[in-house]
Amino acid sequence: MTSHEIRQQFLDFFKNKGHLIVPSAPLVLKNDPTLMFINSGMAQFKDFFLGTKPPIAPRIADTQKCLRVTGKHNDLEDVGHDTYHHTLFEMLGNWSFGDYFKEEAIAWSWELLTEVYKLPKERLYATVFEGDEKENLPKDTEAYEIWKKYLPEERILFGSKKDNFWEMGEVGPCGPCTEIHIDLREEAEIQKIAGRELVNKDNPLVIEIWNNVFMQYERKADGSLVPLPAKHVDTGMGFERLCMAIQGKKSNYDTDIFQPIISFVAQKAHTTYGKSKETDVALRVIADHIRAVAFTIADGQLPAATGAGYVIRRILRRAVRYGYSYLGFKEPFFNEIVPLLASQFENVFPELKAQEKFVQNVILEEEKSFLRTLENGLQTLSQALAKNENLKEGKVLEGKLVFELYDTYGFPVDLTALIAKEKGLSIDTQGFERELEIQRERSRKAQAQEASDWVILAQNHADVEFIGYDYAQSTAKILRYRKVKEKNKTLYHFVLDKTPFYAESGGQIGDSGTFTISNTQEKIFIQDTKKENDLIIHISEDKHCEKFIQVLEQNPNTEVIAQIDEPKRLLTRKNHSATHLLHAALRKVLGNHVQQKGSLVSDKLLRFDFSHFAKLTDAEIEQIERIVNEKIRQNITLDERRNVPLKEATEKLGATALFGEKYGDFVRVITFDETFSRELCGGTHVLATGEIGFFKIISESSISAGVRRIEAITALEAENWVRNEEKLLEQIREMLKNPKDLLKAVQQLNEQKNLLEKKVESYEQTQAQAEKQRILKENLQKIGSIHLLVAQIQVANADLMKQIAFELKNQIENLVAVLVANIQEKPQIAVMISENLVQEKGLDASKIIKELAKEIRGGGGGQNFFATAGGSDSSGISKVLEKAPKLLSL
Ligand code: ATP
Ligand code: MG
Repeated sequence: MTSHEIRQQFLDFFKNKGHLIVPSAPLVLKNDPTLMFINSGMAQFKDFFLGTKPPIAPRIADTQKCLRVTGKHNDLEDVGHDTYHHTLFEMLGNWSFGDYFKEEAIAWSWELLTEVYKLPKERLYATVFEGDEKENLPKDTEAYEIWKKYLPEERILFGSKKDNFWEMGEVGPCGPCTEIHIDLREEAEIQKIAGRELVNKDNPLVIEIWNNVFMQYERKADGSLVPLPAKHVDTGMGFERLCMAIQGKKSNYDTDIFQPIISFVAQKAHTTYGKSKETDVALRVIADHIRAVAFTIADGQLPAATGAGYVIRRILRRAVRYGYSYLGFKEPFFNEIVPLLASQFENVFPELKAQEKFVQNVILEEEKSFLRTLENGLQTLSQALAKNENLKEGKVLEGKLVFELYDTYGFPVDLTALIAKEKGLSIDTQGFERELEIQRERSRKAQAQEASDWVILAQNHADVEFIGYDYAQSTAKILRYRKVKEKNKTLYHFVLDKTPFYAESGGQIGDSGTFTISNTQEKIFIQDTKKENDLIIHISEDKHCEKFIQVLEQNPNTEVIAQIDEPKRLLTRKNHSATHLLHAALRKVLGNHVQQKGSLVSDKLLRFDFSHFAKLTDAEIEQIERIVNEKIRQNITLDERRNVPLKEATEKLGATALFGEKYGDFVRVITFDETFSRELCGGTHVLATGEIGFFKIISESSISAGVRRIEAITALEAENWVRNEEKLLEQIREMLKNPKDLLKAVQQLNEQKNLLEKKVESYEQTQAQAEKQRILKENLQKIGSIHLLVAQIQVANADLMKQIAFELKNQIENLVAVLVANIQEKPQIAVMISENLVQEKGLDASKIIKELAKEIRGGGGGQNFFATAGGSDSSGISKVLEKAPKLLSL
């Protein structure tokens, strides 16, 4: 069975059991501060479990792209070294939201594995939660009894809280789970040790394939557990592991998911898979990492120096480095796998095929820059080794240096260890770990945020409603609030039953405004509005919050008046609509390859990042501005359609959707002139484009390979910008005494300046030559065969002094010259010695100058025949002249 068939059979199986099949969510989850990347199938359904949103269906199934490279689930260091953990993998999942529970979930798992996939029954094991006295959690006898219908008791094992109790996070839904393991060893091995001895013991052939979680509790912030009103099922099966089992392989990498990539890379490296342990690990690392890197970029997360982008950069570098060290790739190669991968997944995750060129290019540029970094790092390392610096006692490389290489150059520790070993050194692993811990602690502190439980004031039965498209003010009920402690401040989060506040999303900043308790003076300032999953959270740091909450708690039916900062919102919406016009204009002028890669829309400006490979020309920028301003003048009325079925919006209406954005079944479509701009968008917009007033691009730059950034302003900001430019011109005009032709006047000024500069230069040269003649006449002495010239000279700059020194050397043989000058109140010295004297007399200009420089309180250096120094004390000049002949002792 091919992997494609295996995936399809899973989806078909659960579809037949009444499940709704949904697409994978993008890897980068927006609106979830607790997760950097999706790491399990349930992540996109968190709201349904938390009860903040009604589920879209009681039964759902899908295959979800998951990334386990940060946080609680981090498998990165194992990847490539073992055969069954990946960075990016597909998790097949089925869910019940308050619908079926343990009985059906277990029965269906069994049916699918043994009847559809025909996995051998006698090789399967189940684990069940054994209970935990400390937590007051009972044994899951229910699951045990159900399993007994399918498995003999010796293949049902009890597991501890670590393996068989699942929690979504520090707080939230949780419950016991039952895992299904499979024994893939040879019969002879099984005769030696029974499979049950190896379950959950890290044996690569006795592995977990499927986890069924039964959510029945909620963990509170104080650690206590309360039963959930509705019980849910959440399952996750590793697709790659499943394929290995069904295809009778001993490693995930031997399946048809990875083999094409491995062969491709092996061929490029002139090797074959299975030849040596080292090259095999490298091939596995590369075949695995390209998936994580390519799919994350396709989902909109570009490699970067911080945050999620940095994680991607590190994965990319890990792959390139393995290629560099073990497969001999000294030139970019990693990006070349992208087309293969894109075709392989064309029908599963089409977002990669659609952006194949872009993704490949981003990776190529990253590779180039890392290979340069790698060279620099190798140099730093070999310099340190050559100088024997950074060495601890014996032959141990300091932890600090190892960490610097790791942190700044992306050198994994094992690479540094390898290079050190070649030079007969070892590395201070403990010292490195210490540095790493210090850094971790620092970032932990920077992020530390402690949220207390929500305090529920009123229950909501429907979805929380956003009414801000139509209203700027509303009376509303506060449903819940909580306190959040951050570094040195306390914030309060509020959730309303309905709200005019726009929560930051789609690039548009969140609203600020006020809450006032009706008929009172109780008022707090709301500084920002953000989404957490689908919850709209109003954030306040107002010192009156405590008092405000007290009043609320005394009477939970109290209503508040929620009022947004309207002027700010009006400016913001102008920038948002202008962003749509800009997007359309860019596609018109540059081409349809332009994809939005990021945006920021605030009341001050708009910023738009998009894929495009060349710097925009002035003519292009002008054309874009012209198109946008023309659309503004046409005063096109907003065409806003809410609740359009997604398919209709993208296919029938042809609206632009963004990659990496998760859309619901119903979307909002924003159109300004249906032949020009039509986008899926949840933001706020002008009623007609004329409201934007005026659009002005203020910068165009590159932010990373293949991604350009435009910053622009509109309305009042644009007007102010023009006014400031005008003022600047006015000032220049006045400075130049209001010439008729300003440009010409500036050109003339420039020409005059150039002419004068030339004149001054030639004058200075003449003066220097005259000075040279003077000192030759007045100061040249002959001591034996040696010409000694110690003199003060008047020159305009240090370069001229140097020039004179060299001229003298060419003119006079056996010369020792010490020239001193006071240039713009700064003493300068030059020492020049004929090369033959350096040899014969062992004279050294750089040593002499050090002595002389002391007199003028300065320092300097150079070579043995010529050296210079500058100082700060001109009164020392006469002492230099006195000291020089003595010092030379000729
Ligand atoms: P393991 O103990 O093997 O790391 P896990 O307990 O972390 O697995 P779960 O969080 O229960 O796994 O995830 C559900 C399923 O996803 C697992 O049964 C497994 O098949 C698969 N899985 C988990 N982590 C990975 C990974 N890094 N790469 C591939 N598949 C994985
Ligand atoms: Mg794990």
